[in-house]
Amino acid sequence: MYTCEICGTSVETSKDLTFTASIEGRTLTIANLSGEVCPKCGEAYFDPESDEKIDEIWQRFKQPSIIFERKLTQSGGRRVVGIPLEIENAILKGKKKVKIWLEGENIIVRPI
Ligand SMILES: [Zn+2]
Repeated sequence: MYTCEICGTSVETSKDLTFTASIEGRTLTIANLSGEVCPKCGEAYFDPESDEKIDEIWQRFKQPSIIFERKLTQSGGRRVVGIPLEIENAILKGKKKVKIWLEGENIIVRPI
């Protein structure tokens, strides 16, 4: 029998654990996972099978849902890229300004 790493209480076997995590405003919830749970503080300890399942689903979930390829053009000595209509309709919705920054190799454009 294992004890909870948070509060030291003996954990109980469960097949009804839920994993929840969020990324960029989207939330992933996976139910019916197995492992152990602390009856006192509720901390969940997933078994290797559930860990693997969580990792597999999370890797797919965290991918962007829509990806477009665009050519970089030139305008007034600067590089310009068109924003796809699908992204305009989904996120921009007529907003007039964006913030642009780098995260590693990625150029992030966020409407403000
Ligand atoms: Zn606990």
